[in-house]
Amino acid sequence: MRVSSLREHYDVVVVGGGLVGASFACALGAKAGANPLRILVTEPVAALQASTSFDARSTALSYGSRRIYERLGLWQELSPLATPIKNIHVSDRGHFGAVRIDHANMGVEALGYVAENQHLGVVLTAALDRAPNIDFLCPAVIDELQPRPDGMSVRIQHGEGLPEGITTEITAGLVVLADGGKSILSERLGISGSVTHYGQKAIIANIAFEKSHDNVAFERFTDGGPLAVLPLATQQGDHRGALIWTVEEHEADEILALPEPLFLQQLQERFGYRLGHIEKVGARVAYPLSLAVAREQIRPGLVLLGNVAHTLHPVAGQGLNLALRDSEVLAELLAAAHDEGLSPGAMTVLQRYVDAQRHDQDATIDFSHYMMRLFSSGNPALIWARKFGLFSIDLIPVMKKTFARQAMGLAERRTRRA
Ligand SMILES: Cc1cc2nc3c(=O)[nH]c(=O)nc-3n(C[C@H](O)[C@H](O)[C@H](O)COP(=O)(O)OP(=O)(O)OC[C@H]3O[C@@H](n4cnc5c(N)ncnc54)[C@H](O)[C@@H]3O)c2cc1C
Repeated sequence: MRVSSLREHYDVVVVGGGLVGASFACALGAKAGANPLRILVTEPVAALQASTSFDARSTALSYGSRRIYERLGLWQELSPLATPIKNIHVSDRGHFGAVRIDHANMGVEALGYVAENQHLGVVLTAALDRAPNIDFLCPAVIDELQPRPDGMSVRIQHGEGLPEGITTEITAGLVVLADGGKSILSERLGISGSVTHYGQKAIIANIAFEKSHDNVAFERFTDGGPLAVLPLATQQGDHRGALIWTVEEHEADEILALPEPLFLQQLQERFGYRLGHIEKVGARVAYPLSLAVAREQIRPGLVLLGNVAHTLHPVAGQGLNLALRDSEVLAELLAAAHDEGLSPGAMTVLQRYVDAQRHDQDATIDFSHYMMRLFSSGNPALIWARKFGLFSIDLIPVMKKTFARQAMGLAERRTRRA
């Protein structure tokens, strides 16, 4: 519930109410037993929906993420505006070979779903508002975290007059840092990370085209970089899709500034005619792409979650999906520790989380990184490898299933859940 005054102490303070912070808080809030954990979520923007997390992008949610939102009781609200992906078509411009993954062969109703981030924001914000054991405060900026023997002290600037608003100092058993890939707080805490710049930007826009997408998600690899068109719900008779077009960094500004007919022409050349003529494009935005992985995910009283822990290339649509799996596991372990009478910020508790998620994180980061390297390269050996790779993935059922399970976010859940 939205608050204007704060308690002196919270069991868990979540810094950042974006896609990951809000989803994690809902997961932890849903664990409320007889003695629920008290949770605070803080967000700098005046209304959570105005967070950059809930901008004009769309997100491909894996089938595994659907199941997570189902367990949180949020899927019913999300599903009416989430477009099912029934098939995935992966191809390489100018080369033979394509992987076609069909939901029926995988025994699921859909391989994944495309949700508009703004809609995710509305649903998550409403869920935070309803949860009796979650306080959320916005606008509010955490400007200092200081370790204490039993957690963290947290200094918060809040109130409408930000940046010169009210300053309040509270304590927390655990601070969950979910303030995104440009986290100033992790920098101030001296948490370093490895960063690989891909020298690319993703141009995002909604597009309309001539033919129905028939719930197919297209992933196409071109010499400039990967290009994806994800199916969106038809609007006012327009067949719509979410475009994620990876281009070389130096080309991005020029492509963004192209008049609409020229933009559509260049896009058509790269994408081909699977959806007929591409007719319209909405507002275009470019995001620089890099892989960033924090060297520390936990300290006493602190855990990093979402983009601040690992920012992935969006080519494989794994960033949020991985963070949702992390969030669910962390929430489960914190609730269990609370029942055992352990502090949520105790290293024994946080180490259990790191141990539980290490393999999934490593595998997902590698999957995204190598997909991106393989499919952006003009190197003849790699072109041959991806041609052969796509061809063999399509022909060999075991490879196809493994590839699809990773893309669906189910690969690492087999051992944890039926
Ligand atoms: C073009 C593109 C396409 C993508 N497509 C997909 C996809 O299809 N599937 C997928 O799984 N992933 C996808 N991703 C990745 C996904 O968007 C990210 O994984 C996700 O946004 C991470 O969310 P986050 O909450 O960690 O960070 P953010 O979205 O950056 O949110 C951080 C939040 O913290 C707040 N904040 C910042 N500083 C402070 C502070 N000091 N105090 C309090 N709050 C603060 C911000 O206002 C914001 O609300 C894509 C990413 C991009 C760029």
